[in-house]
Amino acid sequence: MASQTNSTNVLDSALEQLEDVAALVDLHPDVLAKLKKPKRTLIVSIPTRMDDGSLEVFTGIRVQHNMDRGPCKGGIRYHPAVSIDEVIALAMWMTWKCAVVDIPYGGGKGGVICDPTDMSQTEIENLTRRFVTELVTIIGPEQDIPAPDVNTTETVMGWLMDTYSMQQGYSVPAVVTGKPICLGGSLGRAAATGRGIALVTRETLNTKGIPLEGATISLQGYGKVGGAFADIISEMGARVIAASDISGGLYDPDGLPISELSAHVRETGFIEGFQAGESIGNEELLTMECDVLVPAALENVLTAENAGDVRAKIIVEGANGPTTPAAHRIFTEGDVFVVPDILANAGGVTVSYFEWCQSLQKLFWTEEQVNQRLERVMVKAYHEVYERADELQTDMRNAAMALAVERVGEAILARGIYP
Ligand code: NAD
Repeated sequence: MASQTNSTNVLDSALEQLEDVAALVDLHPDVLAKLKKPKRTLIVSIPTRMDDGSLEVFTGIRVQHNMDRGPCKGGIRYHPAVSIDEVIALAMWMTWKCAVVDIPYGGGKGGVICDPTDMSQTEIENLTRRFVTELVTIIGPEQDIPAPDVNTTETVMGWLMDTYSMQQGYSVPAVVTGKPICLGGSLGRAAATGRGIALVTRETLNTKGIPLEGATISLQGYGKVGGAFADIISEMGARVIAASDISGGLYDPDGLPISELSAHVRETGFIEGFQAGESIGNEELLTMECDVLVPAALENVLTAENAGDVRAKIIVEGANGPTTPAAHRIFTEGDVFVVPDILANAGGVTVSYFEWCQSLQKLFWTEEQVNQRLERVMVKAYHEVYERADELQTDMRNAAMALAVERVGEAILARGIYP
């Protein structure tokens, strides 16, 4: 998904964001200099036996942006448009995201330039096992813990765990998160990102004095993130009045029947074919009057072209990078309150951290324990960002970045520069 954007722009904007926030908080120049570059970038060739007997050599990348607060954490994506610059930018964002929710990780990211939609499961397994073998010296529970991302599933994480374990000679479940439950995956992980977004939405409505009961929500994207969010926010009492996915959208001012809609999407994969409300297009959904707009599908959907037409009071960014910098300026100059992605969708990496803790300790928490701890982390992070925004007299995106960069900077200065 994010792989569809221009990779140079992605890194440029990640660096521009960092420079801006460094100026805002008067960041130590040593810290800024260190954070502008990834700690390590490894590029490998991945010879892969294809089903027709031929050999294809793919390119794989793993970037470790920063390890000052702990091991690197971040997903691996399989996509034709993966590039080094994009992986660096995504790794950098992971550093900020982990620091915002104050979990002891730095940021990492990986990618393989390939089109998995055109490959068999055997070919994907061959590619994964060879890629992991090439990464074996730089990943591990204490140094870099991958996870799923675009086009990589829990099955792929199972192969990753197995391949790494084969190289060590014993099982190492803590090398990866997002793995199947039977291999040490965590209860509550699947819904964690959506749950975190719902918790942050609840806190935002609260701070804005809008009752959660009956609050109106417009949701773009009904996948792993959007679907779980819709279920949880409607259980909390809000009304999802509009929802869309790639197949189309639905609108009902009284609220869509979410449990039936979610069952339909689980069964068919799409919103299309569900009988409720009236049909709407994506653009209409983004600009509809509502309390909270949650873009939870793609990046760059809120742009300079449509930002002026947005009538939501609050935007909670479920997707990564749904708002372009130009749109963000329009929202902050107007009166739209934006909860940025690095805070709003950090529930996923938070429960990944819980999964890693459970795997290291070889014990398992109940789903209730996972959800309670997630709630504590998300609520605390939300209020810390809100207070920092107030102190700095800035918006929530700058405040989240400021908090993150300051936390990483503090660790860098406390450790000092080696040697
Ligand atoms: P997904 O593939 O499960 O779901 C994506 C959804 O977006 C689907 O419903 C799809 O139909 C919809 N969609 C695609 N193109 C669309 C279009 N043009 N218009 C409207 N809808 C469209 O992916 P996901 O895991 O739910 O991820 C969604 C976003 O959240 C991504 O930006 C991802 O990076 C981000 N994110 C995901 C997680 C996670 O734990 N899965 C964590 C943090 C951030």
